[in-house]
Amino acid sequence: MERIAIYPGSFDPVTNGHLDIIKRGVKLFDTIIVAILINPRKTGLFTVEERLDMLNETLKDIPHVRAESFEGLLVDFAAQKSATAILRGLRAVSDFEYEFQMALMNRKLNREIQSVYLMTGLRWIFTSSSIIKEAALFGGDINGMVPPCVKKRLEEKLGKKLG
Ligand code: ADP
Repeated sequence: MERIAIYPGSFDPVTNGHLDIIKRGVKLFDTIIVAILINPRKTGLFTVEERLDMLNETLKDIPHVRAESFEGLLVDFAAQKSATAILRGLRAVSDFEYEFQMALMNRKLNREIQSVYLMTGLRWIFTSSSIIKEAALFGGDINGMVPPCVKKRLEEKLGKKLG
């Protein structure tokens, strides 16, 4: 049986921290579907289409990984895709409480789907989409934290050259 995992998130935008989780996750699963949650209550810097474009560009050379977007309940999307796992990354203790709640809720909603957590690589412990956006907004050097196509998109979006 093909083992499919969903890696859900905002990916606004995708960072090298996300990529690290994806590259390690693909060793555990046959297929990973990186899934952007369409959340009408949360507007990002990038539109869902822009985030999807950046993910597709970044993931194009990684076999068995693809990006999609979804609306509604994560467990429903996972079941629709015949996935048996939800993959998430953990950075600090501060991530834990929310992730724990979400994992328990998802388990209550569908006991067939397991939440699987990978600890961040030390290099990426301080890397988050929001910190990167904040640094970029003020012209900070974000080299090495995001894939090159993301840096380019940030420069276009913010109308400034970044370090
Ligand atoms: P969300 O809004 O759902 O937290 P994100 O795009 O910020 O979406 O993150 C998606 C997933 O990737 C989450 O599980 C998050 O903990 C994980 N993640 C984000 N940045 C890193 C990182 N630097 N190292 C490991 N995991 C990360």
